[in-house]
Amino acid sequence: MTLLSVQDLSKSFGGVAAARDVSFMLERGEMLAIIGPNGAGKSTVFNMVGGQLRPDHGAVLLDGQNITLASPQKRFRLGVGRTFQVAQTFLSMSVAENVQMALVSHNRKSTALWAPARMRYHEEALALLEQVGMAESADHPCSALAYGDVKRVELAIALAGRPKLLLMDEPTAGMATRERAALMDLTAEIADAKGIGVLFTEHDMDVVFGHAERVIVLVRGRIIATGSPEEIRQIEEVRRAYLGD
Ligand code: ADP
Ligand code: MG
Repeated sequence: MTLLSVQDLSKSFGGVAAARDVSFMLERGEMLAIIGPNGAGKSTVFNMVGGQLRPDHGAVLLDGQNITLASPQKRFRLGVGRTFQVAQTFLSMSVAENVQMALVSHNRKSTALWAPARMRYHEEALALLEQVGMAESADHPCSALAYGDVKRVELAIALAGRPKLLLMDEPTAGMATRERAALMDLTAEIADAKGIGVLFTEHDMDVVFGHAERVIVLVRGRIIATGSPEEIRQIEEVRRAYLGD
């Protein structure tokens, strides 16, 4: 069963068609990038998959289940995860506490204050931090971390929801070049190991061509091409817009 199936999604804002009949599929463990100029509709498509926006028409299926009209909370429980920006993490709290809070909110149990449950959440948080290479910073406040490390913690927080599908809208924005590749290497490794499908947008074409298995090119709300990084690189419009040819 296909993990994510997006079928003919369209959305207009006033007279502006931000997405027009956008269709694509994403499999477990796959890294799929959506690229396109500013205003192409990338975030609009993301928000329709995440549930923040309701499409004018079209459908979103997760594991064959129609979730087009489901709330973001419902989708989250069904396995649609999302990385959020720094502001969303609680900077004064420790790294481990941030991840624990995500675990508690995902489990939605009133056992969170029960000591054995707290211990289990703490251990689970440490295991997730280990996976993103941040176990040694578990007790540090998030505010003391370098920007690239905050991004790793954000990834751990997203993983706390045990997503089947992970949405990452410009995950490497504001990061240095070397850190970008490292974050996406890590994401690819975890996606592969856990069978998580990753949908991401990205401005840095080195990241896109180095980490996506498949690339969708969106221009004025429409998909103009889908293919492997090698295939997408050959497209004239992509070369002109992104590769300085
Ligand atoms: P991208 O993420 O590719 O830069 P967006 O999805 O943010 O593109 O935007 C696509 C188009 O839709 C743009 O023309 C943008 O101005 C418009 N748009 C996006 N969100 C809204 C909104 N909430 N209200 C009005 N217009 C919007
Ligand atoms: Mg955007």
